[in-house]
Amino acid sequence: MPNVFDIVTADGFEQVAYCHDPASGLRAIVAIHSTALGPALGGTRFYPYVSETDALVDVCRLAQGMTYKHAVCGNDLGGGKAVILGDPATLRSEALLRAYGRFVEGLSGRYLTAEDVGTTQADMDIIRRETSYVTGVSESLGGSGDPSPATAWGVLWAMKAVSERLWSTPTLSGRHVCISGVGKVGAALAEHLASEGAKLTVADVDPIAADSVAERLGAASVGAESAHTVPCDIYSPCALGAVLNPTTIPELRCDAVVGCANNQLAAPADAERLRHRGIVYAPDYVTNAGGVINIAEEPHGYDRQRAYDRIRIIHDTLLVVFERAEAEGMTTAAAADRLAEERIAAVSRVRLIRTGR
Ligand code: NAD
Repeated sequence: MPNVFDIVTADGFEQVAYCHDPASGLRAIVAIHSTALGPALGGTRFYPYVSETDALVDVCRLAQGMTYKHAVCGNDLGGGKAVILGDPATLRSEALLRAYGRFVEGLSGRYLTAEDVGTTQADMDIIRRETSYVTGVSESLGGSGDPSPATAWGVLWAMKAVSERLWSTPTLSGRHVCISGVGKVGAALAEHLASEGAKLTVADVDPIAADSVAERLGAASVGAESAHTVPCDIYSPCALGAVLNPTTIPELRCDAVVGCANNQLAAPADAERLRHRGIVYAPDYVTNAGGVINIAEEPHGYDRQRAYDRIRIIHDTLLVVFERAEAEGMTTAAAADRLAEERIAAVSRVRLIRTGR
């Protein structure tokens, strides 16, 4: 068992809270990486981790990623994440979720939770009964609901930015896009692209999901294992992470990679491999920020039109990322990190100016 403080202090975490409620079986960890820009917002992952160390490492990695995602998309939010240890299929209960809600309440708003892998909007509605520091609740409770359609809208605008960069036009009509993973985000993205007149190829490990989207939208369908090899303009990973690695990158036959999947690069060096091949990579956490931009509108009184208008900022941010990467001879992933770090430093400094509050 590694020293917890070694993990926590290595990347400058502000706080890691362990939560335990024996009666309901709740064991949770909340990691707050940074509140420099505002309260830390990130989802709660409910997952049967093999060990407590795996859970701690995962929650810290995810919380740090949220710091960068919020910073680069202009949210006044910091990076945080939580994990509940266990199998949601057997452990999920009203008592467990309410106990968890009370722990979130105890953090006094330094951490705002939301859905993630293994938790649902219905879970957030239950957590809401114990704390107001929860987002992604039902629209009937004043929330913004499932963030996936907003994420898909953001990916569409990311593709428009890439199209402007590569082909000097935001229109995607006639462009060939291959989407790997047609779940909640991928399927909604496919609908947008079909409306834009793009040519589509779709893939999914679930052939029924791929075939139903293909049939509905007149798209081609390929096996999930070969999706990245399809000759196309844009390859769009919308399923799992680590799909861009030393094996797959030489096999890509696209001009750009623009997808919603988190952690698409298996390692930081893979960004350089893409650059070397002349493939434009839209950094994942910039591209898939539509969901968190949507959720960030909740505390102001959710308004879908206002949220969707704001999501289009992903387009502008990506153009800045591309210019910066070219001007400074770095990868687009490094340029995005640089932008996020600069905004955190600049806004943190402004916060030192006292206002009397
Ligand atoms: P989802 O579970 O609804 O859909 C994922 C789809 O990918 C499923 O249809 C699944 O069958 C398919 N799939 C799984 N493994 C695959 C493989 N190896 N090849 C091809 N298809 C495969 O998930 P989602 O909510 O659409 O999210 C997709 C990705 O986007 C995830 O990485 C998620 O973390 C990320 N993301 C989602 C959101 C959001 O708002 N939902 C926001 C940011 C990032």
